[in-house]
Amino acid sequence: MAIELDVVIFGGAGAGLWLLDELRRRGARAVLIERDALGTGQTVASQGIIHGGVKYSLKGVVSASAQAIRAMPPRWRDAYAGRREPDLTGVELRADGCWLWRTASMRSRLGMLGARAGLVVKPVSVDASQRPAVLTDCPGEVYRLDEPVIDVVKFLHAMAQRNQRLLIRGEPIELSADRIIIGDLDLRPASIVLTAGAGNEALCEQLGLVNDHPIMQRRPLHMVMVRGDLPALNGHCVDGGHTRATITSATDSAGRTVWQVGGQIAEDGVTMEPAALIPHARDELAAVLPGVSFEGVEWSTYRVDRAERAVIGGGRPEDVQIVQRGKVIAAWPTKLALAPHMSDLIVDLLGEYGIDQEYEGVDAPRPDVALPPWETSQTWNSDV
Ligand SMILES: Cc1cc2nc3c(=O)[nH]c(=O)nc-3n(C[C@H](O)[C@H](O)[C@H](O)COP(=O)(O)OP(=O)(O)OC[C@H]3O[C@@H](n4cnc5c(N)ncnc54)[C@H](O)[C@@H]3O)c2cc1C
Repeated sequence: MAIELDVVIFGGAGAGLWLLDELRRRGARAVLIERDALGTGQTVASQGIIHGGVKYSLKGVVSASAQAIRAMPPRWRDAYAGRREPDLTGVELRADGCWLWRTASMRSRLGMLGARAGLVVKPVSVDASQRPAVLTDCPGEVYRLDEPVIDVVKFLHAMAQRNQRLLIRGEPIELSADRIIIGDLDLRPASIVLTAGAGNEALCEQLGLVNDHPIMQRRPLHMVMVRGDLPALNGHCVDGGHTRATITSATDSAGRTVWQVGGQIAEDGVTMEPAALIPHARDELAAVLPGVSFEGVEWSTYRVDRAERAVIGGGRPEDVQIVQRGKVIAAWPTKLALAPHMSDLIVDLLGEYGIDQEYEGVDAPRPDVALPPWETSQTWNSDV
């Protein structure tokens, strides 16, 4: 039997799950189709920092990206405190804030000045007694930044839990803007929203959302992971106008601390093999964290592409990117932090729904949540 739906979403990671939750609360008859596990691709590989724009103002001007993102930390905080939907009360954050520190160079100091420009979340200088032990030996100032770091896997579980009966795992055997056949289900959507990250490219093609120009771009990263007896640390070391290293900390299933290392190290790593990147990362980390010992730790790396709407010049899009053609919308948040903002924009495009008290979702296989990269990496190197 055909099922009439208001919206079918493709892709169940940060962007799709946030939108699905919003649509359900507005009374839409919606489902979300996930091909693999929830979060596969960028979200589960990300560092989970809910940016407020400081990163985009390090050159001393508040860029358009900083404007777009500055309302996001309070927005996510409200959700985690239960003041605003989706109510994520009780879902653990990885950290309540980030640290920002600099190397001793003058360029670095200028970067810090830029970081103060006109944002909701501003870096607050902390004196030596308030520094975390891991940053005691840093030569320059240390700032606290009120940008929470979410535990991405716990967030995905919580969002999936809220909307279990609206989730479908699988791939359609027939897909057009009017009809989607998946498993036993014959879905007739009024609108389709693509939040499938890199998967949007093929879906756009299948649904006729293409023109002469490439619709999507991929910007690669080669991230580093370090695990072992390490202090928890979340933050950025700033050098001049860029983040020399961005470090976030998690605990793995064996109880070890794992650092995810991004920033310039992951950009530089794109052209390196792991055998070259790991010693480079070790030297960089030793330089930006003078007091930390890396004795006995293990190292690994993973490659992942940032999937975004293509922009001229191939740089980072300044804001979320949404393309609409007829009843199909394709969207890329550009940052996980921007998922709520993107959801608001899509909801506005889709319009209002009558609350359907009868609608309880569909019977279908449900997707799992993806494992983070430190649980799936097979290669850990301790001989560095
Ligand atoms: C290493 C790294 C670190 C990052 N750190 C941060 C950070 O600290 N803060 C921040 O704000 N942003 C960060 N980002 C950016 C952020 O991760 C992304 O902008 C965001 O997660 C994108 O979410 P998404 O839901 O659009 O796509 P994705 O997370 O890529 O998810 C796409 C989903 O769609 C599914 N899918 C794919 N194809 C199909 C299909 N055909 N049918 C059905 N489902 C499909 C996938 O399985 C997946 O579940 C980082 C990105 C990377 C790569």
